[in-house]
Amino acid sequence: MANVDGGHHYRLLVAKNSDKEVMRMKKFMDDDFLLENETAKYLYHEHAAKMPIIDYHCHINPKEIYENHKFENITEAWLGGDHYKWRMIRSNGVEEKYITGDALPREKFQKFAEALDKAIGNPLYHWTHLELQRYFDCQMSLDGESAEDIWNLCNEKLRQPEQSVLGIIKKSNVKVICTTDDPADDLKWHIKIKEDKRCTASVLPTMRPDRALNIEKSDFVSYLRRLGEVAGTEIQSIEDLRRVLAQRIKFFAEVGCRISDHGFDEMLYREASHQDVNGILQKALRGESLTVEEVVAYKTYLLIFLAGEYYKYNWGMQIHYSCQRNPNTRALEVLGADTGFDCIAASNAGCALTCFLDSLNRQGKLPKTIIYSLNPNDNALIASIIGAFQGPEIAGKVQLGAAWWFNDTKKGMIDQLTAFANLSVLGNFVGMLTDSRSFLSYTRHEYFRRILCNLLGTWAEKGEYPNDRKKLGKIVENISCYNALQYFGF
Ligand SMILES: [Zn+2]
Repeated sequence: MANVDGGHHYRLLVAKNSDKEVMRMKKFMDDDFLLENETAKYLYHEHAAKMPIIDYHCHINPKEIYENHKFENITEAWLGGDHYKWRMIRSNGVEEKYITGDALPREKFQKFAEALDKAIGNPLYHWTHLELQRYFDCQMSLDGESAEDIWNLCNEKLRQPEQSVLGIIKKSNVKVICTTDDPADDLKWHIKIKEDKRCTASVLPTMRPDRALNIEKSDFVSYLRRLGEVAGTEIQSIEDLRRVLAQRIKFFAEVGCRISDHGFDEMLYREASHQDVNGILQKALRGESLTVEEVVAYKTYLLIFLAGEYYKYNWGMQIHYSCQRNPNTRALEVLGADTGFDCIAASNAGCALTCFLDSLNRQGKLPKTIIYSLNPNDNALIASIIGAFQGPEIAGKVQLGAAWWFNDTKKGMIDQLTAFANLSVLGNFVGMLTDSRSFLSYTRHEYFRRILCNLLGTWAEKGEYPNDRKKLGKIVENISCYNALQYFGF
């Protein structure tokens, strides 16, 4: 008898406990997605969610803003140029024709949906569903079976006028968009957007002079010819190049540029005299090959010159480094660069970074600087280096950049925020950016803000910081929006 009763009682207990488990389990990506305590929920809903978006670094084409581009279908909007997604689909053993090839848009979408369904823990899973919820009012989860319904629903919504580029920017409460532009660019789309006044965000250029620095590349000489033409001169010496770049910086500043950006596979530093660097440039212009030392000396010299010019205009300088480009030769030959094959490089950048910052600081020309490494092992390194080069001009003058590319994940953001907090002053962080080519990716700011609020809320609830909602709310609003406005002077 006791056995029978005991068994019955046990089954009841199991039932009750599993009901409780179900009640305790969070719903899939609901309003409190990633928010694990009351303080986190308060900070996100009452502060972070209300802040406008300052997207100070992205790769959006300004022409598409001016022309108020409308997407043909969800495959164009999502899979047209997104190497993050291409890489994920490839990892599901899919033929290239369904990724970057000539398969039909609906077929490509199917392959994406099937791969995404298995990509548990990947930020693409969260980004995609945030975009479905915010832009398409769709609460479904995307997989091979739901793909047909979601395809039809998204495409119908994309036909509505508010789903054009300008509509998406307005709906997303974006106030500033900084694109990425070559010094030779005439910035005509930025100028037209400003005159036209339909766009609810300021669309500003960012100067990225990588091609002027990449003296080792085969197109360097032809690029300098083009850069010279834009400035109405022929670049024959390092003096000419300095003059032309200074002129382009002035022009960019007139069009509203507040930021520069540099991408280096590796951060290297080697000092050389003006004369030596001029000799290196002459060699390159004659088509002679250069040694690694000469390449590094040229880049170091020009980067220091450019940073001094940025300082004059009070621009912020961004440095991105530690990337292995095109390690898959077959893929490079068939598909070209930037198609989803790059990876993180081992980094040994500490000395180069400090020498570079020190050189500028000694000359009294160190601009506001944000340093991003693709290698997450560099978080603490950079967070400690920035502490050695702060200045009174602005709080957080030198910063550890937001979690970038392969670090743009939930864990990557927590690690970046924690390193920043541990070794510097997190309250001065200029916050997140999309780094995106897609107009639907503004939800990445939401993803970041939820993670930020959860982290700060958790620290407060553990008693590691006063649970003072006003103070915490201010920090959240600053990191979400106001710090970037102030730092870049938008
Ligand atoms: Zn970028």
